[in-house]
Amino acid sequence: MAAEPLDVLVVGGGIVGAAVAWDGATRGLRTALVERGDFASGTSGKTSRMVHGGLRYLREGRVGLVRQALRERDILLRNAPGLVRPVRFTIPVYAGRRPGALALRLGLLLYDLLRRDKTLPRRAWRSAEETATEEPALRREGLRGAAHYFDATTNDARLVLAVVRSAAEAGALVANHVEVVRLLHEVGRLVGASVRDRIGGETPDVRAAVVVNATGVWIDGLRDHRAATTVRPTKGIHVFLPMDRVGNREGIVLRSKRDGRIMFVVPWGHLALVGTTDTDYEGDWDRVVPDADDVAYVLESVNDTFPAARVRPEDVVSAYAGLRPLIRPRRSSSEESDISRAHEVYEDPDGLISVAGGKLTTMRAMAEEVVDRVCVRIGRRASSGTARMPLGPDVGAAAAFGDMGFSPVAAAHLTARHPPDAIRPWLRETRAREPIVPALPYVWAEVDAAVESEMAMTLPDVMVRRLGLFYEAPDQSLGVAGDIAVRMAARLGWDAERLREEIEGYERYAAEHHRFREGPAR
Ligand SMILES: Cc1cc2nc3c(=O)[nH]c(=O)nc-3n(C[C@H](O)[C@H](O)[C@H](O)COP(=O)(O)OP(=O)(O)OC[C@H]3O[C@@H](n4cnc5c(N)ncnc54)[C@H](O)[C@@H]3O)c2cc1C
Repeated sequence: MAAEPLDVLVVGGGIVGAAVAWDGATRGLRTALVERGDFASGTSGKTSRMVHGGLRYLREGRVGLVRQALRERDILLRNAPGLVRPVRFTIPVYAGRRPGALALRLGLLLYDLLRRDKTLPRRAWRSAEETATEEPALRREGLRGAAHYFDATTNDARLVLAVVRSAAEAGALVANHVEVVRLLHEVGRLVGASVRDRIGGETPDVRAAVVVNATGVWIDGLRDHRAATTVRPTKGIHVFLPMDRVGNREGIVLRSKRDGRIMFVVPWGHLALVGTTDTDYEGDWDRVVPDADDVAYVLESVNDTFPAARVRPEDVVSAYAGLRPLIRPRRSSSEESDISRAHEVYEDPDGLISVAGGKLTTMRAMAEEVVDRVCVRIGRRASSGTARMPLGPDVGAAAAFGDMGFSPVAAAHLTARHPPDAIRPWLRETRAREPIVPALPYVWAEVDAAVESEMAMTLPDVMVRRLGLFYEAPDQSLGVAGDIAVRMAARLGWDAERLREEIEGYERYAAEHHRFREGPAR
């Protein structure tokens, strides 16, 4: 990156920065992307894992936002079938509770009308009896019927990684664990940034015609101090619960009895992902974890909608929290959930282009808008082609994994994550085809692939984002963390001290995410 000047340096390896780098590189710009932690270690790895139009924004009259998100959802369904999958959601209707049947009918009609691509099935209605047959664990009392509609889910961290990979394949220089510590100015104009390799320790200067600030909630750290504060972060948490304890069969939209807030129950293999909350946040932005009250609020809603579930904090398999980079409203009276979900692009007097807000789903459109501005700035005529580019692994590769000797379950799992060539080189390594944890589909060869072809540099990079071992096992897979670290150490040349630091670092991370089990702070 430091060798010769760039056209564009993108700061922040969440979904937005990754998409900007992808768009820039595919338009032929000399592009680089730096992320101070791991790719997707910020908000983009802490989402509801939905690629969706945002049904509930219709209630706020945000038709344009929903139309754009539906369009982007359908582009992703088409271009990234390995990563983005359709899911059917049921919205139960109860007597005396919102949503009323009429409002729901109107909302879903509009949701269907706003999509241009009609690939997903349209809405449908079910009687109370049909609903009880399809989702027998739902509360029966007062059930009037239900609506069905379709949206999509994704593995958020793997989506970010796929976009980073596509950017790199198009020529972008990408680096995780590299932080922008200072922007470089010459006669008042921005000319690049001083970066610090947080693992190797080097601090080179990187020169670029344009710097794009895609640092999410951290956006104001790089902006001209005269610019107004851009974001007001709100906290959202999720919990993974055993799906057989919750009792849902497909996706469910439920409402908090306490305040009517909508939450989603998303099927995730043998688990159900439930969230989210939306509260103001005053704590440390770099250590956001769910607390006992957050978890109690979510579980209360699950138990209200699924009376036999009776889930308690000790039933939670894993929990996580993230901060929404919501654009700060001009007036300060807004409730958290009503702050704008739209994105904004800012150009500061020194030339810095910043982008914030939006959604995981709308990343491609946001990136297109940003790179259009970059092109104007550097006098380049090139338009975005990302709406037509395939993204993520090839869904047709299951046979190749079968030929490598993987079980059908492992082959299906690997197909949604890796190109066969990323796994093939590691088949001779010890236990390559064996599951890492019984009952989960992850195999040991994926640890080798994570280091060698997915830029995993630390133990949490592997446990939390490359593989889902942190989320999907009740002990956060602490029992295998040491063995995984040893395998990584052999590839990355870690000495005994670094190995110990990595294991202790992961244990701390897991412990912070368990603290909600100790109950509310007094
Ligand atoms: C609880 C919750 C649930 C959500 N669910 C959904 C959903 O289901 N679907 C959906 O479409 N959207 C969802 N969203 C919204 C979506 O997650 C965000 O809009 C999106 O992830 C923001 O991405 P980003 O790239 O702007 O920010 P981030 O992902 O936070 O990325 C910014 C990155 O910049 C890095 N950075 C900061 N400073 C520096 C520096 N100086 N140098 C280098 N790097 C730096 C950070 O480490 C970080 O990784 C959800 C959000 C939340 C909070």
